[in-house]
Amino acid sequence: MAQNSRKKPNILVTGTPGTGKTTTSFSLAEATQLRHINIGELVREKNLHDGWDDQFDCHIINEDLVCDELEDLMEEGGNIVDYHGCDFFPERWFDRVVVLQTDNSVLYDRLSARGYTGSKLSNNIECEIFQVLLEEAKESYPEDIVVALKSDTVDDITRNVASLTDWVRSWQPKA
Ligand code: ADP
Ligand code: MN
Repeated sequence: MAQNSRKKPNILVTGTPGTGKTTTSFSLAEATQLRHINIGELVREKNLHDGWDDQFDCHIINEDLVCDELEDLMEEGGNIVDYHGCDFFPERWFDRVVVLQTDNSVLYDRLSARGYTGSKLSNNIECEIFQVLLEEAKESYPEDIVVALKSDTVDDITRNVASLTDWVRSWQPKA
């Protein structure tokens, strides 16, 4: 199938853990009827990993297995992919790359509430301070499809979902 022959767009929602990817993706999926794919859950359910990383306290994701698993769905289109990384997905998969960003002190409280402590907490706060995911997105995708959105409050989520829903509704398949 030719590149971009999909009839519905694919959106990547990325950002530091705790910035609201899953909350935003869930709500956007409800509003648009697109399919929400939470990569972390997919990796756990289908064992698309190479074991557990004790240092970072997470699965060692097998990027090739994840990409193989998703290829058909992505070709079909209509997906919202939710993950705190973006450099290993094929560039051609996405029509929009959303990078959620959260104020450091707000993020600190959110991740603490999630039980993060010590280096797991400070690593993620640093990741946000240095805009690691925004840089990764800009290096991996055309600049005109990458958009950074503030995700500090519930109102931000409402606004982001509304503007992304408008974008989905006006999206046209490439001729
Ligand atoms: P991620 O998937 O990026 O790790 P989540 O969507 O799981 O983030 O959100 C983490 C926590 O922060 C949840 O309890 C969620 O309700 C809260 N949260 C996320 N984004 C916002 C926001 N913009 N305003 C208020 N709370 C938020
Ligand atoms: Mn999540």
